[in-house]
Amino acid sequence: MTTQTAVQGMYLAGEWMTREAKIDVYDPHDQSMICSVPSASAEDMLLAIKEAKLGMKIAAELPVYKRMEILHRAAGYVGEHRDRFARTIAKEGSKTITEARGEVERCIETLRISAEEARRINGETIPFDQRPGSEDRLGYYFRFPVGIIGAITPFNDPLNLVAHKMGPAIAAGNAIIVKPASVTPLSALLLAEAFDHAGLPPKILSVITGSGSKVGDVLVTHPDVRMISFTGGLETGEKITHQAGLKKISMELGSNSPVIVLKDADLAHAVSATVSGSFSAAGQNCIGVQRVYIQESIYDTFERLFVEQTAAISVGDKMLETTNMGPMINENEARRVESWVEEAVGKGANLLTGGMRDGAYYAPTVLTHVAKDCTIAQQEIFGPVVLLYPVRDLDEAIDLSNSVNYGLHAGIFTENLENAFEAITRLQVGGLMINDSSDYRIDGMPFGGVKGSGIGREGVKSSILEMTEPRVVSFKLKHRKHE
Ligand code: NAP
Repeated sequence: MTTQTAVQGMYLAGEWMTREAKIDVYDPHDQSMICSVPSASAEDMLLAIKEAKLGMKIAAELPVYKRMEILHRAAGYVGEHRDRFARTIAKEGSKTITEARGEVERCIETLRISAEEARRINGETIPFDQRPGSEDRLGYYFRFPVGIIGAITPFNDPLNLVAHKMGPAIAAGNAIIVKPASVTPLSALLLAEAFDHAGLPPKILSVITGSGSKVGDVLVTHPDVRMISFTGGLETGEKITHQAGLKKISMELGSNSPVIVLKDADLAHAVSATVSGSFSAAGQNCIGVQRVYIQESIYDTFERLFVEQTAAISVGDKMLETTNMGPMINENEARRVESWVEEAVGKGANLLTGGMRDGAYYAPTVLTHVAKDCTIAQQEIFGPVVLLYPVRDLDEAIDLSNSVNYGLHAGIFTENLENAFEAITRLQVGGLMINDSSDYRIDGMPFGGVKGSGIGREGVKSSILEMTEPRVVSFKLKHRKHE
């Protein structure tokens, strides 16, 4: 165990390493530089993979009780330093300090669930005698670690999404190499520090800071890396899927989540939950609300209340407890959002509130009458913009919800069970929240999407299944007596 602070280096197979080439990390609030981390080379990634080949043996041989102890100790370390972790998330990313504190608590929970699930990695017996000629066989399957996991993570939950890779990988007895987003590498390095202090044996974990195209490519294409666990955008996910070749792949991608509000809903609750689900983390949230379909008879009231509550969101200094929404991750992203809104307005959309940019800040924005062929109607905005649409009935709302190439989460507000079950049956999503917005998740549930939203499921137990492989064992008994 070393005591060097994480921000001075990257974590290569249990050692903190510095490099001359650097990636500067900026605070999106004012573009001030926070610090620099190494810009790893392809050779660094190859070294991490070489070390992980030894690490995967050490990890697989680590008894389950030791894996559990390490995971609990890492969770404890995060808890003891929760303020430092939260400030790091808020500083390097765009979350407010309140949102960042919430992410730290979730990270602790993710690690603790990983520890608990480690003891439940099991298989089942197989009745081989279901086939004539197999009467003399007994057996079962149990699960083995995949080996080396390559994990690639995005900027928007820079700590907990990394915990969702490291926790299950270590619980399942794998070695893991994490390549965090280049704009938010510090939280991932802090988590490596937690595992370092927790006594994780060297070589099991690396956090390699470097650009996706330079070091990410090496990780994705290397034949010794048996699984790529990716969280990020659809375009990057598709590219990685093509490059990876024959290895396990888990793809946690984006969405433009729909929420349906029917006339029998609790309107006040539907409005406040949907506003919150639209603008948390400045809309940079894979399950954030982007499209809201409201039944015609309640549309006008919903729109009025929704705009009132959106306009009341306080945008500004992330480090203040009173701030509701911070900046986007950088000015380029805010400019992209601005251009998508301008395109929609140019094609006839009504801008009800927002629509203004100041550096990386983009005001919470509500649009109506957005034409179907606008980018914002089809693609993931990943920013603080929401689209409201009136609909005749549930049927129309479901058809419109399903009309895009995404399907991560959806929400429906209704007091009617028939309506809820109709939506459960017909919506093409990985998760449906009844009387909640799409923006609801706990860390111990299966999480993932369909269509362009991904392949596979995270949520600790599901990740452990993805990060292990069943091995069947059959005993042929020579002299088994048949009664
Ligand atoms: P991104 O641009 O796709 O980047 C994600 C990661 O991929 C980064 O670490 C990036 O590295 C790396 N990368 C880029 N090109 C690569 C390549 N050719 N090979 C290997 N790695 C490469 O996504 P983002 O902007 O950070 O995150 C936003 C997206 O993530 C949104 O679409 C959001 O919905 C999605 N997301 C999904 C979930 C989920 O669980 N479903 C959760 C959160 C976010 P660099 O930073 O160095 O470019």
